[in-house]
Amino acid sequence: MPPSHATGHTPQTAPYTSIPPHFHTSTLLAALITLIAYHRGSLSPSGVLGALVVGSLTLTFGGWSWALLLAVFFVTSSLLSHFKESEKRVAAEKFDKTHRRDLGQVLANGGAGALVALFSVLAPSPLWFPLFLGIMATVNADTWATELGTLSAGPPRLITTGRRVDAGASGGVSPLGTAVSLAGGLLIGFTALIGRRERSSWPVVLIAGIAGLAGSLFDSLLGATVQLIYYCDNCCKETERKVHKCGRLTRPLRGLSWLNNDLVNLLASLVGGLVALALWLLLNKRRMH
Ligand SMILES: [Zn+2]
Repeated sequence: MPPSHATGHTPQTAPYTSIPPHFHTSTLLAALITLIAYHRGSLSPSGVLGALVVGSLTLTFGGWSWALLLAVFFVTSSLLSHFKESEKRVAAEKFDKTHRRDLGQVLANGGAGALVALFSVLAPSPLWFPLFLGIMATVNADTWATELGTLSAGPPRLITTGRRVDAGASGGVSPLGTAVSLAGGLLIGFTALIGRRERSSWPVVLIAGIAGLAGSLFDSLLGATVQLIYYCDNCCKETERKVHKCGRLTRPLRGLSWLNNDLVNLLASLVGGLVALALWLLLNKRRMH
């Protein structure tokens, strides 16, 4: 049993000899949260399947302290997607998905974390947790920036050239969006600090904040350069959607044909995870000297 999991269970609970009953509890809990999210309109039917898989894997293999990070992401992003809906409607047309998250979107946000939880049991190491922390910080940071950054008063600027772009455009960044994504990462760090008690100290908050910001900036960088972007000839607008809000089929405008928005989110989360891992190693190395 890896020490990183020690605080994930109550002392009375046997470690991984108890996987089957633990798995049932995890699935039941994931099912409950998923059902609520579905009724709130946060998930599509395929998204329900994805959330069940991601939720039960993360809780079963990562334990309560890991699943808490997933829950904070899931709950805050669902709440934010309903926040100031009317103001965001115009910008929302540019996004690949509405706020009913489908299977691809759920796996793009939670899939990497669930796999890391699984690997942490298959090949125990204290390094899986910072990787997971950075992944969750990034998906939270990026989702917060997407949901709230579009409310920015001024138009965002393209991360590469600084050219002004429309609100919600891929690759656009704004001071508000950047501040919000830092906050989204920091919240994941605070949650880790609370959830892991004596095993984490305040640097996890900083690590999650930096990793989340780095991951979501990487997401914007891909959005501005190689991500597949479509164009709606009917509305004369760029979009991440294959079928535009107006119902018309869009045409590919720029980017790599295989690099859709979901894959960009997944890659960005891995980058955030690696940033967190690097910072974690750096801090521990300094402590040893
Ligand atoms: Zn259109």
